[in-house]
Amino acid sequence: MDYYGSHITRLVEALKSLPGVGTKSAQRMAFHIIGMPEDQVRKLSEAILDARTNVQFCKECCTITDGDICPICKSRVRNHRQIMVVENPRDLAAYEKTGRYEGVYHVLHGAISPMLGVGPNDIKLRELMQRLTDENGDLTADEVIIAMGATVEGESTAMYILRLIKTLGLPVKVTRIASGVPVGGDIENIDEVTLERALRGRTELK
Ligand code: ZN
Repeated sequence: MDYYGSHITRLVEALKSLPGVGTKSAQRMAFHIIGMPEDQVRKLSEAILDARTNVQFCKECCTITDGDICPICKSRVRNHRQIMVVENPRDLAAYEKTGRYEGVYHVLHGAISPMLGVGPNDIKLRELMQRLTDENGDLTADEVIIAMGATVEGESTAMYILRLIKTLGLPVKVTRIASGVPVGGDIENIDEVTLERALRGRTELK
């Protein structure tokens, strides 16, 4: 039965498509929105549309950016032969905040998870492999640092990347950040000192 009328129901359904939003939260948000001044609602919907229209993936590292290439990939002072693989742009931001990493990144936008049905082709893994060599087949990186969280998904993804690099016979060093990152911990929630220590204490995967 439609208690609230079709407009509200439609809004609730739309909000429910967002991650982590169930029926109750969606209803709460919907009622909050209809109570907001109209110009504020317009600003909100314009900001959503604007972000969706103008934000794109960096052609080098796949992070989200306004142009073709993100500022980090554009930078001449960064070490482009050191690539840190992270799960999402929030993790990239967390590492940038430490101010101690001088290499570049690769953002996978997810992690391999057989349980959730996320396979290697569902994340930006092909893009990572492609950028490890140039058009002549020459290696473009000296080190790939795998900075995935210490979760089952992070572990599977790290092992998959290592196996892929070995299978392709690429003589690039593969390292993994140290276990200073707590088991099951999300990178973005870890403080800067711990992150920096995890980066410094990284070990080579063989
Ligand atoms: Zn980039």
